[in-house]
Amino acid sequence: MLSPKLQDALNEQINAEMWSAYLYLSMAMHFEAEGRPGIANWFNVQFQEELAHAEIFRNYVNARGGRVVLKAIAAVPTTWASELAAFQATLEHEEKVTSLINNLYALAEEEKDYATRERLNWFISEQVEEEDNCHTLIDRLKLIGDNGLALYTFDQELGARTYVAPSILAAK
Ligand code: MG
Repeated sequence: MLSPKLQDALNEQINAEMWSAYLYLSMAMHFEAEGRPGIANWFNVQFQEELAHAEIFRNYVNARGGRVVLKAIAAVPTTWASELAAFQATLEHEEKVTSLINNLYALAEEEKDYATRERLNWFISEQVEEEDNCHTLIDRLKLIGDNGLALYTFDQELGARTYVAPSILAAK
């Protein structure tokens, strides 16, 4: 059984993952409108990944006999000044999510809930990947600068990204 404190924290995390999904969907819509279909696709995949993160936490709370409580999802920004600004905002957001996961991990240890700690290990690795992806794309956008042809190629490459469900969900 989850402690009430840990259950509340996991519900907060479900809300944070849903907010992340909403943020990336907003970025996808922004780039769709700006004529960057590849970048829009990349953020749409990101949106799907965040929904999957929320689902993993929901399944976990249910599996532990807990109660999932869905709360309001706060509004998200709707425009970004440039491609670089959007990816920098993404990195900043992912760094914040990393600290939320770390706090959850610390709470799981405090509550001696080792099953939750074990589940969080997946998210800890996932956050390393998220931040690494952002760093790579930010570096490339800095190199691209205002080179339109290079940006066109970048957009095309990001258009090739496809969503793959995390194996934790696929195994269910
Ligand atoms: Mg996430």
